[in-house]
Amino acid sequence: MTDDCIFCKIIEGEIPSHKVYEDDKMIAFLDVNPVSKGHTLVVPKKHVENIHEAEGMNYLFDGLVEVSNAVKEAFDAEGVNIAQNNGEKAGQEVFHLHFHITPIYEGNELDITYNRTELDEGEEVAEEIQKRL
Ligand code: AMP
Ligand code: ZN
Repeated sequence: MTDDCIFCKIIEGEIPSHKVYEDDKMIAFLDVNPVSKGHTLVVPKKHVENIHEAEGMNYLFDGLVEVSNAVKEAFDAEGVNIAQNNGEKAGQEVFHLHFHITPIYEGNELDITYNRTELDEGEEVAEEIQKRL
């Protein structure tokens, strides 16, 4: 529990949420400002800031799969996006690790625009990442 963390407060039951799942390690609840009906957040109970502190938290993936299935089925979504922001510049607003599950419905596709380029210096780029693993 971190005192000024809104998700820790939700986990502790100090502020309300629309909970859809809970076990001893994680919780899932509706996003208060959904981008589509059923937008759900999957959140570990352990307070870590973001993905860079999430080593050993593999259980989150199982939870993500289960909750994604439920979200997709609930309102017969056409597809589901999973998003996860790390750092202010990457759009993170709540600094307690979380995954967004956003169902996509026909006629309500999210506008996610990436400016794609051609891969350049693939070998060097891959090597820079590879040598850190
Ligand atoms: P991010 O930008 O990835 O950090 O996303 C934070 C998300 O948390 C946003 O989509 C907010 O709408 C959501 N959020 C913030 N406060 C609450 C809350 N009290 N209950 C549910 N969702 C919240
Ligand atoms: Zn927290």
